[in-house]
Amino acid sequence: MNYIGLSTCDTANGPGVRVSLFCSGCTLHCKGCFNEESWDFCAGRPFTDETLKTLLDALEEPFVDGLSLLGGDPMEEANQPEVLRIVKAVRERFGRSKTVWLWTGRKYEKVADSPIFDYVDTVVDGPFIEHLKVKEKGCWFGSSNQRVIPLRDVRQSA
Ligand code: SF4
Repeated sequence: MNYIGLSTCDTANGPGVRVSLFCSGCTLHCKGCFNEESWDFCAGRPFTDETLKTLLDALEEPFVDGLSLLGGDPMEEANQPEVLRIVKAVRERFGRSKTVWLWTGRKYEKVADSPIFDYVDTVVDGPFIEHLKVKEKGCWFGSSNQRVIPLRDVRQSA
């Protein structure tokens, strides 16, 4: 998997201060997408063991609330193995002390079978629909069809 960005102090994507990973690749091509350069699976650079170490070390900071996984789309089939490795590693190291949020252009019901969600606290789902664009600042979604779905109490990781 490639990624186009890793922010270690992000206050715009999810609650509190977060480490945010922007995965490369999205086949949904929503009209008006805020981030068209992320559609290319080859954009950015490869996510390596070293990147994972950087991400985990950044989460160690006491002021960091958790990890946000965005895109592109982390739930693209090609991205899922690496995303699963990441969320498992976060749970192994931090238990439930850091939250994991994931944004996907798919409806949650379509991808709910993935074991990734056993390690995710909150999913923001659905494609971006331009005429439903949300203008207020401070929302965690771009259009009003998208949902913020808490999973922590619904799916428990091992
Ligand atoms: S799912 Fe997200 S990244 Fe993909 S096209 Fe839609 S808005 Fe863009």
